[in-house]
Amino acid sequence: MFKFDYSYLTLPNSLYSITPPCLTAKIEIKTLNHTHLEELDLSTKHDEILSALLSKKYQNKSYAQAYAGHQFGQFTQLGDGRAIIMGEHLTKNKERFDIQLKGGGKTKYSRRGDGKATLKAMLREYIISEAMYYLQIPSSRGLGVLKTNETVYRNFKEEGSILIRTMQSHIRIGTFEYAYYFGKSNELQTLTNYTIKRLYPEIKSVENPPLALLKTVMEKQIKLVVNWMRIGFIHGVMNTDNIAISGETFDYGPCAFMNTYDPNTVYSSIDRHGRYAFGNQPTVLKWNISRFAESLLPLIHSDSALSVKLAQSVINEFDEIWNTQYYAMMLNKIGFESTHNNLNFLIEDLLDIMKNHKMDYTNTFRSLSSNKIEEEFINITDFKKWYDLWKENIVQYTCFSDAKQLMRKTNPVVIPRNNSIEQALENAENDNYKLFNSLLAILSTPFDYDNELASILKAPSDDFEKNYQTFCGT
Ligand code: AMP
Ligand code: MG
Repeated sequence: MFKFDYSYLTLPNSLYSITPPCLTAKIEIKTLNHTHLEELDLSTKHDEILSALLSKKYQNKSYAQAYAGHQFGQFTQLGDGRAIIMGEHLTKNKERFDIQLKGGGKTKYSRRGDGKATLKAMLREYIISEAMYYLQIPSSRGLGVLKTNETVYRNFKEEGSILIRTMQSHIRIGTFEYAYYFGKSNELQTLTNYTIKRLYPEIKSVENPPLALLKTVMEKQIKLVVNWMRIGFIHGVMNTDNIAISGETFDYGPCAFMNTYDPNTVYSSIDRHGRYAFGNQPTVLKWNISRFAESLLPLIHSDSALSVKLAQSVINEFDEIWNTQYYAMMLNKIGFESTHNNLNFLIEDLLDIMKNHKMDYTNTFRSLSSNKIEEEFINITDFKKWYDLWKENIVQYTCFSDAKQLMRKTNPVVIPRNNSIEQALENAENDNYKLFNSLLAILSTPFDYDNELASILKAPSDDFEKNYQTFCGT
């Protein structure tokens, strides 16, 4: 069923390790993504999928990728410790997708890990990445979640699982760092040529392709993280090994969605200093792009001082591009076209009010977009004042119907609320997928302002919010 190509295996073999996945006949499919399978011209039949996964013919070419990365600022050698790429599937239109088995067994890079994943964590990644896709944010996706029927040992005994993950490419900043720090002669150049050909062929013939790659990736990532800020997404572990060169969101470990607006919001149990807090995401992105720039230095120019200067000139553009795109997006959130940057103060004022009065990020913008402000908001005097000023500006710069149309395209009615997702996962662990499937359905039309079922996804209680934590590598 898969039409596999293996272009990655043309790279120097230090960049990967051929590894058959660890799959047994005990695997069963717990959830399947019919829409995505069809997009990829793949069968949606359980037996065909299972027999393809278990087929020996793919096993001698499946591989784990080598990479390094800065984790919380510290450089480390890493690699796929529990993810195995079966191959690059080519659709009828010749689009290329890595088909990866996350939780697919030990690899050369597993270190002390068991190479496995838990059912709860893989279902969580599946539902959140689907939600991201429908929120119109580039993301890795799941073709399905398997139960391995083997026990995985974490804090408790848990069900083992494998996520069948797709991505345009799993090449990350960390792949370049690996080639830069450990690569033999020419490996960095080969990886760079390969990446450009695979992901950005349009820059192949420009004057300085490595410099153009730096700029392109910076722009792609800025666009991505601006989109995260649009919906209150906190990635939670923006280490350089989790930043895709393709500009797709991936590695849904400790991610979570912000409820009440506060730029300092952190859910990850290990992020003690708030390095990856909601409001710190642009700063960290710039830091990560600087690590990418460093790893490209030998290729940008043979004169090292000039190379640094050229790379720096790209990084120097970061703040302006970020500000332009961020405010453009935020202006859309309050109903103005992105050209009205004289109104940026309205955004800053609103965010201050939201923070001071602990207002829910999604619901505040949803209220504005619905044109019926809930009492809980309008009773806040500061907000009421802001709202009156906002209305005056809407009349002056646009009109209510245009503003509403723009806001309803930008502001979702629903996001995957942490509390509802947790409940759905708990039920699924007990083999009840009713809530999981209902949430998936609601999250697949997040801009449908007439969907009455959307009210299932309510903001959590203060108690839930205070105690909620997320974890890496489960
Ligand atoms: P992450 O936090 O998911 O980016 O993972 C960081 C590194 O740890 C990556 O190299 C992963 O492949 C590896 N890793 C995470 N969990 C496991 C596991 N259970 N077994 C082996 N390696 C793992
Ligand atoms: Mg990772």
